[in-house]
Amino acid sequence: MIKEFELNVLPEELVDTETLKKAVARKISVRENLIGDFELLKKSIDARKALITYRIKVQLTVLEPERPSLEKVGEEKEIEVEIEPVVEIVEVEKYQDVHSATPVIVIGAGPAGLFASLKLIQKGFRPIIIERGNSVSERKKDLAQIIRQGEINTESNWCFGEGGAGTFSDGKLFTRSNKRGNISEVLDLFVEHGAEKEIMIDAHPHIGTDRLSAITKNIRQTIETYGGEYHFNTKVIDLIVKDNKIKGVITEKGDKIESEIVVLATGHSARDIYYLFHEKNWALEAKLFAMGVRIEHPQELINQIQYHTPKYSELLPPATYSVAHSTKDKARGVFSFCMCPGGMIIPASTGKEELVVNGMSNSLRNSPFANSGIVVNVKAADAKKFSEFGELAMLKLQEETEKNMFIAADKTMVAPAQRLTDFIKDRKSSALAPSSYLPGLLPSNMSNILPEFISTNLRDAFLHFGKTMKGFITSEANIIGLESRTSSPVRIPRDKDSLQHIQISGLYPCGEGSGYSGGITSSAIDGINIADKIAETYK
Ligand SMILES: Cc1cc2nc3c(=O)[nH]c(=O)nc-3n(C[C@H](O)[C@H](O)[C@H](O)COP(=O)(O)OP(=O)(O)OC[C@H]3O[C@@H](n4cnc5c(N)ncnc54)[C@H](O)[C@@H]3O)c2cc1C
Repeated sequence: MIKEFELNVLPEELVDTETLKKAVARKISVRENLIGDFELLKKSIDARKALITYRIKVQLTVLEPERPSLEKVGEEKEIEVEIEPVVEIVEVEKYQDVHSATPVIVIGAGPAGLFASLKLIQKGFRPIIIERGNSVSERKKDLAQIIRQGEINTESNWCFGEGGAGTFSDGKLFTRSNKRGNISEVLDLFVEHGAEKEIMIDAHPHIGTDRLSAITKNIRQTIETYGGEYHFNTKVIDLIVKDNKIKGVITEKGDKIESEIVVLATGHSARDIYYLFHEKNWALEAKLFAMGVRIEHPQELINQIQYHTPKYSELLPPATYSVAHSTKDKARGVFSFCMCPGGMIIPASTGKEELVVNGMSNSLRNSPFANSGIVVNVKAADAKKFSEFGELAMLKLQEETEKNMFIAADKTMVAPAQRLTDFIKDRKSSALAPSSYLPGLLPSNMSNILPEFISTNLRDAFLHFGKTMKGFITSEANIIGLESRTSSPVRIPRDKDSLQHIQISGLYPCGEGSGYSGGITSSAIDGINIADKIAETYK
């Protein structure tokens, strides 16, 4: 009989399958030798109580105890037959040979563009991927140059290049929204291309930068094998539109690439695309987003806070946290964003005169630092001085704040920073706490650089977080600026049924840059949904 159980186990009971099976057998009062097939389906940490446990879901087969043979007993007995529940087997869609199939231009090789391309191949369309940045291997050199020389390649950096902003990221694969589509299809595709199967089980799956670059290359191999195409170092600078229908794209090299189906998956940092829409009077909408700082603590301190003791089990992973506060007038939220345990802070600028930071980690999450964005909701009224730019007003505010951060840091990739305790007291730090940020930090007074509504609300929120997480406010933590690319400040609107741009038919705004997703998983899901819709419309 197949059964499923949800129960709590200690970290030491989860070290391997045999130990786990023993613990589960004991807890469900079934003899261990009567457990046949045994599978761990889900696990998540439960750190709410002093004793930290894992909440797990397991599926197992309980075997029948051996019965004495009827011959020996000498009499007939009715044997109870258990009917096994039917396990639904989902057929994985096969890739088709698309070498001579209908071409679909996919602008951008981030999670949205790549997962759209995989799905298009399954549906019998040929993706032509146009990517402004470098392939993964070449892109690594561009990142090294940012760290070593403080020089940004505006076309290939932490946000642009093969795999998009998702490649050299933290690689957390959860999404707050499971309404948008099939998360397990995305996780399956990641596993198919080299991710650990563990991501299917973990409630908060994580891949890590080191593994993501290999996975991104494997995805390219699938796409090219079946007939898809990549064009790296090729920036789309215009769309060919006739009678409100898309006809193709124009690249910076002057080439025209034609197709009547175009997926626009350029991510939230492709400001030139928003400006293009603005200039051509193609529909755009302003969208709320959030800005603030990245905070960095010693990971050891976060572990002690979250695991409630300095003597927490070594088997526990580096602890995470999630904090939120609403301002006194309840008008806006201040919240943690993209928390990276055991991670590093990195420069995520895409332009020459801006300073943006973000967080990433390797699969082992073994750096001694814990970082997270702490950001404040930005509203249209905050960008009043840019109202002449219409729907781009909030983008202008984002640009201005990034530029102010750059100027404050002597126009380099060195980032302005302040000890958290000094920020709360509004005084400049004389020296900073150790940090993972390789280009270096410059002691600064953040209140003089950030817009007033951000610094005031951040200060209030930090005081609140200090009460809910005892030890969070410490001079061992730095705040570092600027965390501004949390989501897009602009939406490229699409029709809710056809998923095409509301004015340009055949054009599919997709992923985070379109304003319809945020994060790796939801952008990948959006890509899959767009490809499904294309197949439904053009087959
Ligand atoms: C350092 C860092 C860490 C992150 N960590 C996480 C995390 O742990 N978990 C998570 O869920 N999310 C994380 N994110 C966010 C996540 O990476 C994005 O939400 C996701 O990548 C968005 O996917 P996308 O495909 O919509 O856009 P993007 O990934 O931004 O991809 C867009 C692509 O389009 C290309 N492009 C842009 N303009 C043009 C043009 N004109 N012509 C041709 N190509 C163009 C870009 O070069 C880019 O490759 C992180 C982001 C960063 C920067």
